[in-house]
Amino acid sequence: MRIAELLSRDKPFVSLEFFPPKEPLDRPAFFRAVGRLASVNPLFVSVTYGAGGSTRADTLDIVTRMKRDFSLEPMAHLTCVGATCDSITGFLDDLAEADIDNVLALRGDPPQDPEFRMPETREFSYASDLVSFIRRQRPRFGIGVAGYPEGHPEAPCPEADLNHLKFKLEQGGDFVVSQLFFDNAYYWDFVGRARALGIDKPIIPGVMPAFSLKVIRKILSLCGATISPGFLRMLEEAQEKGGTEAVKSVGIEHARRQMRGLLDGGAPGVHLYTLNRDDDCLELLKGVL
Ligand SMILES: Cc1cc2nc3c(=O)[nH]c(=O)nc-3n(C[C@H](O)[C@H](O)[C@H](O)COP(=O)(O)OP(=O)(O)OC[C@H]3O[C@@H](n4cnc5c(N)ncnc54)[C@H](O)[C@@H]3O)c2cc1C
Repeated sequence: MRIAELLSRDKPFVSLEFFPPKEPLDRPAFFRAVGRLASVNPLFVSVTYGAGGSTRADTLDIVTRMKRDFSLEPMAHLTCVGATCDSITGFLDDLAEADIDNVLALRGDPPQDPEFRMPETREFSYASDLVSFIRRQRPRFGIGVAGYPEGHPEAPCPEADLNHLKFKLEQGGDFVVSQLFFDNAYYWDFVGRARALGIDKPIIPGVMPAFSLKVIRKILSLCGATISPGFLRMLEEAQEKGGTEAVKSVGIEHARRQMRGLLDGGAPGVHLYTLNRDDDCLELLKGVL
């Protein structure tokens, strides 16, 4: 079923994001984690797509099994940077064959792999090109797009970024999933500016728990989101005094407060970046829904 339809029904909700495990040997543990997290009844689950299509087969296989074996509503992420119309069509056909109805349409970033070569003809420049392509090829698919409460790092200014988001939705996007943020004020400001610009589609806030200082530092360096000096200091102090377990409990408490604040404040639901960590996410979700 299209996620847009689910969004109009079930509120508030949690949705869950996973990434394909790197090693085939990690698959059984991954699917055990999916099974355990299915117990929180997520509205939908999403699976990332490696830069340049590096996880294409895994993403497809995982969303297929999530639907078949766990009766979950999956959304496959799909990036178009360096892709061709033929390769995208092939992936969309595979999704349709597997009975998957939803795609998160992204531009993506060029892969770090020095062997990667951009195709000679650039068939997709921005996510909006992918959205309109999918809408033409598969009119019945549900399409989500990415939004950036603190602005996308390449955008010249927040207004330009928001105009690009609006255009992306006008091409056929049904809803927005936001980049992570650690201060809910960014989300409320983003939603306010989007509504003022005439964007009326649902904007789902994305929350990433700070389970580990190292992981969070790496992700922040890549995605352009910020962390307040106060929260960073709390995590660093926890690391010094109690190590990784102490960081995790500070991170979980912060994410729990964020999720409660978002739901109490009227967000339609929360998209949780699970980092494939079932125990930690189950602990976090206690008392949230
Ligand atoms: C919820 C979420 C999930 C993600 N999942 C993945 C994933 O699975 N795999 C992955 O590789 N990456 C993923 N990403 C990261 C994403 O691919 C990067 O942030 C990428 O840099 C931008 O992708 P986009 O779809 O937002 O691009 P776009 O919407 O195309 O925007 C990219 C930049 O171009 C600008 N822009 C857009 N249109 C125009 C235009 N017409 N003219 C000029 N400038 C324009 C925008 O303002 C922005 O600065 C995810 C991000 C989010 C928020």
